[in-house]
Amino acid sequence: MKSDFVIENIRASVGERAQGFITVDESAAGIRTRIPIILLNGAHEGPTLMIASGVHGDDLNTIPMVWRIAESIDLATLYGQVIAAPIINPLAFEAGTHLTPTDHSSPVFPGDAAGTISQRIGHHIYNKLVVQADYVIDMHGGSKNATLATLAHIDGGCKPEIFAKAQDMATAFQPQLIVVQESKPGSQPRGLAQAACRREAVGIYVGLGQMGFNEQDTVRGTAGVLNVMRHIKMLPGEPSPVTTPPHITYTELYQKTGYGGGFFPAVSAGQEVNVGDLLGTVFDVFGQPKAQIKAEVAGIVDAIRFYPVVAAGDWVASIARWESVYENRA
Ligand SMILES: [Zn+2]
Repeated sequence: MKSDFVIENIRASVGERAQGFITVDESAAGIRTRIPIILLNGAHEGPTLMIASGVHGDDLNTIPMVWRIAESIDLATLYGQVIAAPIINPLAFEAGTHLTPTDHSSPVFPGDAAGTISQRIGHHIYNKLVVQADYVIDMHGGSKNATLATLAHIDGGCKPEIFAKAQDMATAFQPQLIVVQESKPGSQPRGLAQAACRREAVGIYVGLGQMGFNEQDTVRGTAGVLNVMRHIKMLPGEPSPVTTPPHITYTELYQKTGYGGGFFPAVSAGQEVNVGDLLGTVFDVFGQPKAQIKAEVAGIVDAIRFYPVVAAGDWVASIARWESVYENRA
């Protein structure tokens, strides 16, 4: 007999939705920080999937995807439970910033109950939500800085059987490319999907689109997640067949400008480039071209700068390259 699905004070009966907030921390002034949660309790037994968005406060286009996914699932056909968390980092969301304003960090996982605010948010989300999940999809969108290709990241440091499942799950999202995150010696995982994989749940990071709310991205991201849910048999029906297998890459090269000014892109996210192709031009404040940034490696542009004002040393484009030599991410 299937039971109610309960997280803190949110309770969804079998075949029902429920929504509410969970508390993740308290500010210096004693104001509680809460994150909104929608629970879906399917009519049939099955695994628990966590769908998260808004780890970064300006990744906005994924929020309507989570809403759309949560409202479009027919609970009579759902196997298992869904935890939908559209805004994981409410402090950055309110401030309109990529990172948590007070500690200039993203929430990190599994986090630290005695750490800074981002570590505390990560701790509560990990212990209240991630530990309940058999599968995790961490959705990232276009931000103030970057417009993204449709991509997935998977953790190269997890157990081989979890890695294989994550790769299949990422493929079912039907991204253009999958970036395998190789572990650096001695480094600890910090991402939500990575933290899930390290506790042997299957987690993937997906990214796509441009900052803001737009129907095109909402439709694409929703379709991808529903296809993943058919792949893991939480929804009936066969997943759509993969017509174009994703490229698999291991490294991303962040290309930088040596001059400040305004960046005018010459390529879009998802475009394939060869060495020497023009990625964009930086103009000075009089409108004169100051620098041309050209691709140093061949690959796919997986992120291109959205907000055009750049300082010397800022990255303007990221290329997921074909070669597999580890580079630090920017
Ligand atoms: Zn993000």
